[in-house]
Amino acid sequence: AAKEQGRNRFHYFTPSMQEYARYRMELIKDLRNAINRKEFEIYFQPIVDMSNGEVYKVEALIRWHHPERGMVSPAEFIPVAEETGLINEIGNWVFEKAAQQSARWRSQFGVEIQISINKSPIQFRDEGVTFADWLSLLRHLDLSSNAICVEITEGLLLDASMGVTDKLLAYRDAGIQVSLDDFGTGYSSLAYLKKFDIDYLKIDQSFTRNLEDDSDGVALCEAIIVMAHKLGIKVIAEGVETEHQKEILAAAGCDYGQGYLYSKPVCLAEFEQAYLLGRKSLVAQSE
Ligand code: C2E
Ligand code: MG
Ligand code: MG
Ligand code: MG
Repeated sequence: AAKEQGRNRFHYFTPSMQEYARYRMELIKDLRNAINRKEFEIYFQPIVDMSNGEVYKVEALIRWHHPERGMVSPAEFIPVAEETGLINEIGNWVFEKAAQQSARWRSQFGVEIQISINKSPIQFRDEGVTFADWLSLLRHLDLSSNAICVEITEGLLLDASMGVTDKLLAYRDAGIQVSLDDFGTGYSSLAYLKKFDIDYLKIDQSFTRNLEDDSDGVALCEAIIVMAHKLGIKVIAEGVETEHQKEILAAAGCDYGQGYLYSKPVCLAEFEQAYLLGRKSLVAQSE
């Protein structure tokens, strides 16, 4: 048993604080250079209209190709970017790329695809500067304002210090749409949905996962959808992986689905191949 334990201890080796600190410092240093070195890329995941299977919305999800470490997950580097304030620069980069991409798709394929970008609470702090820049870029690209949707999380709505109400009102005035991401994982409150003028609510993947084996899970999703609709909010289910989940959600009146069942997040070329070029040939076939 002692031997067993020893072996386990060896397997469950955890890096020392010192090693972790060094790793973090290197990550920060690399993160600072990542934009200039063009190591970031945006992946696109379709948000599918459940009533007809059409795709007019996508979520932009950042990817970091680290020269030595390979692909680093946003779950790993976004928190570090938030702690160091680098998220502002990264977030602006994502916004610019998304806006330019939406404009390009409009001119290349004649379709308006709305791109959702994730915005950290931190990015709302010096909103004064960036928001004006964002708006002028949209104007410069002659994009209709709902070309971009901003995904925020419940935590932001709790933080009164950042004047979130006013900022979201400014979004409203500018026509930028707002999604409430990961709904159900935080202090979800119906009051927030009413108080803040949001356009979409994204049911968190953990709820979608529970749909098949848990009738309470179904009741919960149904209730969320009914309530959202009463408030004029459309519902997107995240993490749809199976046909069965899709059927349950569609039956419950869910508006949009996003998840591996439809597609994983893919690079630009793959997205265009599957959803934009494909769309053209479908039109040609039916004629
Ligand atoms: P999120 O905004 O909730 O994005 C959804 C995550 O779920 C993505 O992970 C996506 O790849 C994953 N996903 C989609 N469909 C499925 C599915 O069917 N099953 C499962 N198991 N997972 C699915 P990803 O791309 O690793 O991003 C993780 C998180 O990192 C995002 O969660 C978001 O909070 C953050 N993030 C990503 N890009 C950005 C960004 O540009 N800015 C900021 N601030 N945060 C970002
Ligand atoms: Mg999101
Ligand atoms: Mg989410
Ligand atoms: Mg509304």
